[in-house]
Amino acid sequence: MGVSLSRRAFLGGAEPTPAPDSPRLAVVGQGCLAARGVYCRSCAESCEAAALRIRPLPGGRAEIAIDPDRCTGCGDCLGVCPVEALSLQQRPPDDA
Ligand code: SF4
Ligand code: SF4
Repeated sequence: MGVSLSRRAFLGGAEPTPAPDSPRLAVVGQGCLAARGVYCRSCAESCEAAALRIRPLPGGRAEIAIDPDRCTGCGDCLGVCPVEALSLQQRPPDDA
């Protein structure tokens, strides 16, 4: 009975696209340009679920972090990466 409210919505954040039915999850590999100090945000800009976050690192570098609660496994980010650093992998069993 009643309306359930996710913790994220309760805390004021946007409600994520329902992800977790997908057995797949995006993963950033070592070829990522941002990790090498080259400005690139193409994947984050392409993700409608806002599952990709930029974490600045020293030296002008950045880490691309993937929020497993938001990633739908749609694969849209893979095609925009100029160095094919992204891939889809199976979610860990306890993350599905
Ligand atoms: S697979 Fe889809 S939802 Fe997941 S990070 Fe890439 S674009 Fe976003
Ligand atoms: S599009 Fe590719 S190179 Fe650019 S930030 Fe994303 S993973 Fe890194």
